[in-house]
Amino acid sequence: MLRFNDHLAVAVSGGKDSLALLHILSKLKKYRPKTILTAVTVDEGITGYRDEALEIAVQNCKRLEIPYLIVSFKELYGFSLDEIVATARSRGETELTACAYCGVLRRKAINAGARKVGANKVATAHTLDDEIQTDLMNIFHGDISRLAKEKPVTSEVHPLLVQKIKPFCEIPENESALYAYVKKIKFQDTPCPYAGEALRNDMRAMLNTIEAKHAGTKFTVFKAFEKLRPAIELTANKESFKTCAECGEPSAGDLCKCCEMLRHVR
Ligand SMILES: [Zn+2]
Repeated sequence: MLRFNDHLAVAVSGGKDSLALLHILSKLKKYRPKTILTAVTVDEGITGYRDEALEIAVQNCKRLEIPYLIVSFKELYGFSLDEIVATARSRGETELTACAYCGVLRRKAINAGARKVGANKVATAHTLDDEIQTDLMNIFHGDISRLAKEKPVTSEVHPLLVQKIKPFCEIPENESALYAYVKKIKFQDTPCPYAGEALRNDMRAMLNTIEAKHAGTKFTVFKAFEKLRPAIELTANKESFKTCAECGEPSAGDLCKCCEMLRHVR
């Protein structure tokens, strides 16, 4: 995942996993002096939630002497997530949840932030739990091309899309949490006010139930998907890129997913 001279943009939300990752990666500076770290934090604009997280993220960066960049939805897109959700709801748009908007907009924001700081890789704190929940969700949605794409080290598919790595992909979430507690890392533990995705919550509950009865299942599921991935990649449609007519970013269609979503609220 890591080369000695990487410039990593570490996606830091202010939660336990991303701060545990930032603290662990900060140790690289000691024995890999050519590695550069920059924290990238997205301000989605969620009243009463994001401000505390931003403050905690910044405190940790200062303590670790890691430079940081805050990218805000408002600056980038002209709307905060609160505004997007309120507008969509007032117009009777019920198909997309807050998480659906946020997921797409945040991914683009992190990529933009990583490019701005000159990073060649984005490191995210997705844990073993996150990875297998996503894999299973892609199966349950029948989304095989996403199943092929969303892997621990993404392929370099376009010069404007920064490669993503997930150093915690084999770390169970409870171990990442344990690290944060043992190291007395200050993190935000209030959950996001927008309810999580229903299907992801079901996947989490199911996997936790099975893991409690059959220890090791989570690793087995992860390994099974990683073994299958090359075969899945062969069957998935190959990605081709156009340029988004609105923002100029790489996109699958005439408009990127993000601009398409924002059309609903403009
Ligand atoms: Zn666009």
